[in-house]
Amino acid sequence: MNFDDSDRLRTLLKINGFVEVENLQNADFVIINTCCVRQHAENRAISFLCSHKLLKNKKIFCLVGCVPSLYRDEIFKKYEFIDIICGTNSYKKFVSVLKNYNGEKISIFEEDEGFLREPLIPAAKNKLSSFLSITKGCENFCSYCVVPYTRGKLVSKPSNIVINEIKQLVEKGVKEIFLIGQNVNEYGKDIGERFVDLLYKISEIEGILRIGFLTSHPKDIPDELIDCFVNIKKLYKHLHLPLQSGSNKILKLMNRKYTAEKYLEIIEKVRKKVNNISITSDIIVGFPYEEKKDFLETYNLVKKIEFDDLFVFKYSPRPQTKASEFLDTVSEEEKRERHFHILNLQDKISLLKNKKVEGQILDTFIKEKSFKKENTYIGRTETNKPVLVNFQKDITGKVLKIRVIEGLRHYFIGEVL
Ligand code: SAH
Ligand code: SF4
Repeated sequence: MNFDDSDRLRTLLKINGFVEVENLQNADFVIINTCCVRQHAENRAISFLCSHKLLKNKKIFCLVGCVPSLYRDEIFKKYEFIDIICGTNSYKKFVSVLKNYNGEKISIFEEDEGFLREPLIPAAKNKLSSFLSITKGCENFCSYCVVPYTRGKLVSKPSNIVINEIKQLVEKGVKEIFLIGQNVNEYGKDIGERFVDLLYKISEIEGILRIGFLTSHPKDIPDELIDCFVNIKKLYKHLHLPLQSGSNKILKLMNRKYTAEKYLEIIEKVRKKVNNISITSDIIVGFPYEEKKDFLETYNLVKKIEFDDLFVFKYSPRPQTKASEFLDTVSEEEKRERHFHILNLQDKISLLKNKKVEGQILDTFIKEKSFKKENTYIGRTETNKPVLVNFQKDITGKVLKIRVIEGLRHYFIGEVL
């Protein structure tokens, strides 16, 4: 989502006559787009800022995105070298301020409708692939999550605008599109449209070879969506379905609105209907009141389900959220240990799963050239897993048949047939 935001801001700036520089030393304005979903992301943004503050004399420092949205009144007090702060929904105003900047400290939080009304074309860096936000905001209020406070209510982008944006991206060379939303399955609730219909419409766009989407909430997985994996050839057979915890006690405290049993039922249904689908997930370890037995329930469920991959996060309390009022009962050391155990388990599962694919022939979209090795390309299988192949001439942008020679933990090594 932040990549999409940055690309849109980049385009807006370009249209308004600004030029992006490769080297920070040559910049007049330094714009830092921030995420604060976890403490770690926030720390990274702030440490980047602090490590560059010596450049301050010659530059205007702008902090945009989720961090200023969350700490509106504190930023200027804490970091006196910042000149402009701007929230997640105010980029048009931000650019107009930059054009006539008079040196005063400014906060910009008036919402504009840039996300909906002014379709901006993301200035995709990798021309073959682009993220595209189809919703902004979220109203699910999972108790640990800051997104409803930083990005506000759910707003969907009408399908005609989405289609139009994708067509313009195709003209720029894009062949793979990733639809982004906090819970894409809620797309359209506010405007009388449905995510499934949007997927079918996008699949008809000529020039689009691959479609992916992120993220789905387990409380909203209609059968029609599962059918899309079978009916739409261009759609990656990949579902990212965050579980968060395998303990019903913790799921309830997280306000996730499903149980471990219900989650398992969905996985079984999806696997039955869609052959070889890849399923990935997110887990939070060390949530308040997560006892050893709760963690064990998560561990055992992960073992049972055998995800293709897993993102595991140590819980960090976020300001304004309900969970930040709970006691942070699990020690840092215990969080680290649980994090390590579950990742260790997943490493074994992923490796075994990928080994089983050795010898298979897979339709693979060649997405980019490897920067590390000459004549090496990185592709994505139909299930959105990375494959490394060697080839003497440029094959980027093509869908090719690849034989998997070796399955490793994070990717395959293949050969072009
Ligand atoms: N909208 C997505 C999640 C977006 S945040 C969804 O509902 O699934 C991405 C992931 O960050 C979450 O799935 C969760 O695992 C993790 N996360 C969010 N808030 C967190 C917190 N306070 N501490 C640790 N991990 C967190
Ligand atoms: Fe956060 Fe839950 Fe919304 Fe995802 S669904 S963005 S975790 S509140």
